[in-house]
Amino acid sequence: MLRMPKFKVLNPATVAEAVDAIQQVEGSRFIAGGTDINPNLKHRLLEPECLVALNGVEEIFGISQTEFGLRIGAMESLTNVETNTLIQQLAPGLASASRQVSGPQLRNMGTIGGNVMLDTRCKWYNQTYFWRKSLGFCLKKDGDVCHVIKGGSKCVAAASNDTAAALSTLQAELEFANAQGSTRIAIDKLWQADGIWNKKVGPHDLLVAIHLPAALLNQKGSYKKLRDRNSIDFPLLGIAARLKISDNIVDDCALCVVALQARPWPLDKASALLIGTTVGSDAFNEALKACCAIAAKQCRPMPNIPGDHAYRHAMVPVFIRRAILSCLD
Ligand SMILES: Cc1cc2nc3c(=O)[nH]c(=O)nc-3n(C[C@H](O)[C@H](O)[C@H](O)COP(=O)(O)OP(=O)(O)OC[C@H]3O[C@@H](n4cnc5c(N)ncnc54)[C@H](O)[C@@H]3O)c2cc1C
Ligand code: SF4
Repeated sequence: MLRMPKFKVLNPATVAEAVDAIQQVEGSRFIAGGTDINPNLKHRLLEPECLVALNGVEEIFGISQTEFGLRIGAMESLTNVETNTLIQQLAPGLASASRQVSGPQLRNMGTIGGNVMLDTRCKWYNQTYFWRKSLGFCLKKDGDVCHVIKGGSKCVAAASNDTAAALSTLQAELEFANAQGSTRIAIDKLWQADGIWNKKVGPHDLLVAIHLPAALLNQKGSYKKLRDRNSIDFPLLGIAARLKISDNIVDDCALCVVALQARPWPLDKASALLIGTTVGSDAFNEALKACCAIAAKQCRPMPNIPGDHAYRHAMVPVFIRRAILSCLD
């Protein structure tokens, strides 16, 4: 049986109190739904003396239309995001990605904010302390080698957050609060290619809300996920697509892939090929083929997460095609 370590819990009621609370004890962490941080605590991947619980901070709940577009509070559960009618109508790709995170119980507890801020994953890292110790640990925690890239000096654990791919295709802006005030960061600028910590903000920056720009709402969207069991598993590969179609012509297209490397990866070269083609025409079919081929060249899965990486690679063009065609259904 894996036991929880001892820690103190603070329960702020406002964003200001949360930002203040996280600085009181060095190394503290926020806890939202706890579906990811709790297993990580049990595995001794994190050892904070204090957790700052976000479930009493009302300001970071709510889904509403704003002048900018759509605001989704970071503490909204994945179930709420998946079933919200505004999101289903205006951002179908995000509803689809949320619906495919984990299983129903974890989506009831897990939040969209926790999903964006999810730690990277690796089959050599997401293990018990005993398991990792017998292997000699690794760069991400307690060790000095990488088991994925022999002799490697950089951690390549994979970004495995399903909703991040959909939010990238929607060019979401993320609102953070910290002791210095509040900032907004475009989601594609949030990431860095470092599996140890793949975000440019720190663990003490509070994600308050996700803002989706109006110009990209109400378009076609989908998320296709490769995984062993459709009921619960993390992605072995995840592809989000957004398509804007006017008079049967592809006006705009965006694709983003997760579960390959440390950061979600927008596939701009591949998606650009479809723009300007008429859906169903020979030109569209040729562009779709070329788009899948370029994506397969760009995406190189590593043996960092479970699943055969050659198989994951072979599935890239298949899942790109499925994601795009599913937008046209
Ligand atoms: C069996 C199992 C299967 C899973 N399958 C999937 C899957 O298929 N796809 C997937 O994407 N995830 C999966 N998860 C992971 C997890 O359930 C989800 O990612 C969930 O959305 C995490 O949200 P949470 O609220 O529970 O986050 P928490 O566990 O509470 O927090 C996760 C991290 O985010 C930080 N954090 C949380 N909220 C904020 C905030 N507002 N501001 C700043 N930092 C914050 C925490 O400090 C922590 O580091 C799975 C987990 C388990 C146990
Ligand atoms: S990629 Fe390498 S360093 Fe990173 S968690 Fe995996 S084994 Fe450790």
